[in-house]
Amino acid sequence: MATSSPIAIYFIALFVASSITSTMLAISVPPELTDNLHTDSGAIKLASIDYGRIIKEKPFAVLYPSSLDDIRTLINLSYSSSFPYTIAAKGQAHSTWGQAQANKGVVVQMSSLNSFRNGTGILISGDRSSGFYADVGGEQLWIDVLNATLARGLSPVSWTDYLYLTIGGTLSNAGISGQTYRKGPQITNVLELDVLTGKGEFVTCTSQKDTELFYAVLGGLGQFGIITRARIVLEPAKERVKWLRILYSDFSSFSTDQETLISTTGPSHKVMPDYLEGQLLMSQSPLDFYPQSQHQKITSLINQYGIVYLIEVATYYDNKNEDKRVKQMLKSLKGFVHGFVFEKDVTYLEFLNRVHDEEIVLRKKGLWDIPHPWLNIFIPRSRITDFDNGAFRNILLKRNFTSSTVLVYPLLRSKWDERMSAVIPDEEDVFYVVGFLDASADDWETFDNRNKDILQFCVNGGIKFKQYLGHHATKEEWINHFGSKWNTFQQSKSRFDPKMILSPGQRIFNN
Ligand code: FAD
Repeated sequence: MATSSPIAIYFIALFVASSITSTMLAISVPPELTDNLHTDSGAIKLASIDYGRIIKEKPFAVLYPSSLDDIRTLINLSYSSSFPYTIAAKGQAHSTWGQAQANKGVVVQMSSLNSFRNGTGILISGDRSSGFYADVGGEQLWIDVLNATLARGLSPVSWTDYLYLTIGGTLSNAGISGQTYRKGPQITNVLELDVLTGKGEFVTCTSQKDTELFYAVLGGLGQFGIITRARIVLEPAKERVKWLRILYSDFSSFSTDQETLISTTGPSHKVMPDYLEGQLLMSQSPLDFYPQSQHQKITSLINQYGIVYLIEVATYYDNKNEDKRVKQMLKSLKGFVHGFVFEKDVTYLEFLNRVHDEEIVLRKKGLWDIPHPWLNIFIPRSRITDFDNGAFRNILLKRNFTSSTVLVYPLLRSKWDERMSAVIPDEEDVFYVVGFLDASADDWETFDNRNKDILQFCVNGGIKFKQYLGHHATKEEWINHFGSKWNTFQQSKSRFDPKMILSPGQRIFNN
């Protein structure tokens, strides 16, 4: 290693001052790394906030890597030190509970790898017979993958609702949306990964080679290594999308019809939508999706029932026959309110990038960079009606949380891979995603307290939920979260990140 530069000495001094006060660290940071290590207040501030804007933990330094070797050197220095420091890969920091932060550690700003890749961050290969795939840098955004693949008439198969998220960030969670019930979460559509482990080793892993690392990293909350490349499954893309919202006045009909639509064996199997989600409509819900002329009618329905449930479906198509498929799909549904089916016809890109349109509007109103006390949970199918009564009606409606954005849609266990680290409820074939996606400039605690009441309602009622993108206060809560997967998770941590360097913001091993 080269001798330490003034920046290196500064970095070490900061570290010493904070963690071991009297001992001098025997680490010499090579100049090529220190040039990319920033300790100025601007860099520190940026690395201490996320989309949640609730947790703000300051790192000592931020690495803007100009190569994968920069990250490897950073990890090696920590791993070989008697006083290892923590390291968090930061995608876009779209986490809501500080998961990409590193208190008194180092944050790696993954987006700076873009310059190193020099436009080669997304490489498309394959053919019709063996299948297409894209090799994508862990720092890349899904929107960029979509644009690059669409240029070749191709597309990834599984998505998140919002596309300005990174490959490494969503694969560390699961990556779910309306396509998940058919195609599985994003983590099940990955063929190969390049990972830089917590020991500073580069490993290429697949379901056949270095399998323990492969399965651990997928849904692994950044605990085992930094994903530097993922090979993503592609399929031929369709050009257009029929995008429907179908309204229900009661939960039972709504969930019955949702389950009919996702059934792989039922009569509607041939007309399964490509995308299925669901939402609550309440008195303060925005109605921008619907024509202005229909607002009065929808508002009356909401006033009558308090909560209106909507199924959101999309079918992708290239030719004009799509109307027939949509009609057949609607025929398989039993309980929607007649006259309350609304349809849009948009491009594939417009549909997948729909949340970005909302982002633009919210940014203009100053409502994007504000606290987001989000709660996402998976509820077993057998208890979803109890959840409707207890959480939607008795908590949301009674306490007048009628501006909340709430997603509700079913997923199939069979589309998940048990070997991966991601956690879903035990046993049942169908479980529901419920997302409470609130934003509040001045009173996020009220929403957070309400969310705690919702979780407590589940605990009291014996509803065996699992959190998604969640945060837990203690290690015991994490052990409970992982359930039967905990032992494997812990063993993989000892194997790939024994010094517990990586992703401390998840607070699993660094509480
Ligand atoms: P970050 O928040 O930066 O990081 C998340 C975690 O992954 C951290 O622990 C970090 O250290 C680790 N990490 C980051 N990069 C890497 C890497 N390369 N290798 C290893 N670990 C890494 N999620 C869904 O599943 N479905 C949705 O529909 C959905 N919609 C969303 C909509 C919005 C508006 C927002 C803000 C988020 C949404 N999310 C959704 C959540 C999103 O998946 C998470 O925020 C996720 O963490 C991705 O964000 P990110 O890429 O900014 O990762």
